[in-house]
Amino acid sequence: MIPVTRTTLPDLEDYLTYLWQIWKSGQLTNNGVLSRQLQAEVMAFLGTNNLALVSNGTLALQLAIKALRLQGEIITTPYSYVATTNTILWEGCTPVFVDVDSESFCINPNLIEAAITERTTGILATHVYGYPCDVSRIQEIADRYKLKVIYDAAHAFGVRLHGESLLNHGDCSTLSFHATKLFHTAEGGGVVCRDEEVAKRVFLMGKFGHIGEDEYLDLGINAKISELHAAMGLVVLPKVPEIIAARRECSAWYDDLLGGLDLQRPRVIDGLEYNYAYYPVVFPSHEAMMKVRAALQARDIFPRRYFYPSLNTLPFLPELLRRSCPVSESLAHRVLALPLYPALARQDVERIAVCIRRVVVA
Ligand SMILES: *Cc1c(COP(=O)(O)O)cnc(C)c1O
Repeated sequence: MIPVTRTTLPDLEDYLTYLWQIWKSGQLTNNGVLSRQLQAEVMAFLGTNNLALVSNGTLALQLAIKALRLQGEIITTPYSYVATTNTILWEGCTPVFVDVDSESFCINPNLIEAAITERTTGILATHVYGYPCDVSRIQEIADRYKLKVIYDAAHAFGVRLHGESLLNHGDCSTLSFHATKLFHTAEGGGVVCRDEEVAKRVFLMGKFGHIGEDEYLDLGINAKISELHAAMGLVVLPKVPEIIAARRECSAWYDDLLGGLDLQRPRVIDGLEYNYAYYPVVFPSHEAMMKVRAALQARDIFPRRYFYPSLNTLPFLPELLRRSCPVSESLAHRVLALPLYPALARQDVERIAVCIRRVVVA
């Protein structure tokens, strides 16, 4: 069986070393030694400041929205994972969908201004598959209209743009350390903030808003990361360069073996150091995609319709919010994320490519 991804498990011995440490200290959570160590190591690895660790990437988004005090309308992308839209709704704000660019698959900056109203307070866009949004155009618009910018950077761990972490753009960039992500802590996440005060607010709001024992900064929730999760992060983090290198190699095999076919891939921009988090391919038609998917599934190979559905068509959205986004809807109907993980063998990629070629060329 070949799934779309497989979690990287570190050596159990390495994890046990940290477990011994936890057993000795007796501290399982509440910003312990290992969480603080992970926070420092992740910041050093990424080249970012002001990182608050949290318990998952969804709470990271919720806390970013809360800490930046966004209300009313938030301009957002329809082409992302469902959590991007859900968190806006969950925080009592209104998602205003702006269609994506047909080449980057990220929010189309040319369409943002037309969607701004006097109720707009922020922009929440996703670096889709780890490919960057047009961060300079988005910042320029945000500055002009005094809007806050949040990037859902769940896919962008380790991505660099012009020699700098992509996470240094926007007021907040949120990370997911879920087991399926490139870097993981089983469950976990983080918020990288431009402003130290915002990072503090995220951190405090994520521990019930407590400052000291009897005082509260503000409304809070529980978004703490446990020492057991932090320990997982500490053993996976040193493996990230190998993980990225292995994924780069698999991606190059796909590039090679799928060359010449009528398949669209996200455009690569100048100055990008990609993390090879995903290998999405967009087929010429919905029918071709479904045929390829069925053919692969018949061989026990499970690509994922990632992302589907286009978020502006989610069934639980109020009718009023379902603005048409033709580019995103079209992509969502034609895309497959192909299997990609370090243990994927060249022969597996060959089998997948042969299968795709047979359907697409026929
Ligand atoms: C995984 C993911 C999330 C949610 O992260 P969790 O840690 O699973 O809560 C949010 N947005 C995107 C784009 C994701 O891929």
